[in-house]
Amino acid sequence: MKILLIEDDLDLGNGVRIALSEQGMEVVWVRTLDDATRSLAHDGCDLVLLDLGLPDGDGLTLLGQLRRNKVPGDSGDLPVLILSARDTLDDRLSGLDGGADDYLVKPFVLAELLSRVRALARRSYGFDGETIEVRGLVLHAPTRRVSVAGRTVELTASEYALLKMLMMRTDRVLTRRVLEEQTLPGSQTNASNTLDVHMANLRRKIGEGYIRTVRGIGYVIDLQAPGGAA
Ligand code: CA
Repeated sequence: MKILLIEDDLDLGNGVRIALSEQGMEVVWVRTLDDATRSLAHDGCDLVLLDLGLPDGDGLTLLGQLRRNKVPGDSGDLPVLILSARDTLDDRLSGLDGGADDYLVKPFVLAELLSRVRALARRSYGFDGETIEVRGLVLHAPTRRVSVAGRTVELTASEYALLKMLMMRTDRVLTRRVLEEQTLPGSQTNASNTLDVHMANLRRKIGEGYIRTVRGIGYVIDLQAPGGAA
């Protein structure tokens, strides 16, 4: 589980970063909206912790851009938890109506933040940041281990990133553009070709029947096997 923490307060940011890291989560910590946008476009993440009062603007602006699918590489449904000292009912409503999935008022206890992050991850991805399983295909995020029917499969970094992204969003078609931007950073020339090559290798390693091509759009991993068989 990769978390983008957008928080300009040094003590709080550091405390949250350490607490999440201790839970085995990967944390990218930025302190401005600018850096957050750059990080989302280049590296992506699975969940966003968003402060509202930031040096270069309001976190709600970024939230709006995310929900209108205006941030490159994001598919518009990234889970967002707001962390803010703004504690009136109107503040909370404007955050939730703006598309946030949850709102935690500062100051908060770290244990509550961790519990809400796990709950949000479960709601969004059906797993709490550690293990995802789809029909015998298992991905264990902390160790980056992938296995099929108990047999370990060796994947390259790009293949692992592609598989993880698809497994975390089962039953949702991910467009070629989103997959390219999130998993193949820097491969601007022939990104399309590169994606096909990685996808072919990935399918060969994990076996057919997991990744379905949606012609002209992208790829999806179905929770249920095609045809309805378990
Ligand atoms: Ca702040």
